Amino acid sequence: MPRIPESEIERIKHETDLAALVRSRGIELKPHGSKDLAGKCPFHQDDQPSFIVTPDKGLFHCMGCGAAGNCIQFVQKFDGVRCLITLGHWLKGFLSCVFLAIWA
Ligand SMILES: [Zn+2]
Repeated sequence: MPRIPESEIERIKHETDLAALVRSRGIELKPHGSKDLAGKCPFHQDDQPSFIVTPDKGLFHCMGCGAAGNCIQFVQKFDGVRCLITLGHWLKGFLSCVFLAIWA
């Protein structure tokens, strides 16, 4: 896999609006304190907003599960989780097909 140059990563981190990115993934963010935003964490079963975004720094941190990082890590983590769920759904579908084939 080609590696992205460090300078390019820095540029992306600098130019990405993390709050907008998080919102684009369907997570609602509300003001939290003077500079932060808070929403429900997508990385664990969250029933209170423990996912904190600091737009000034472009960083996120979850007080519930400890997930933390920048915009790139957010996308990697978020899309990775979605991949696993998709894989899980696919496996479940596949397994029920196998069972049906055996029992039919
Ligand atoms: Zn969390």
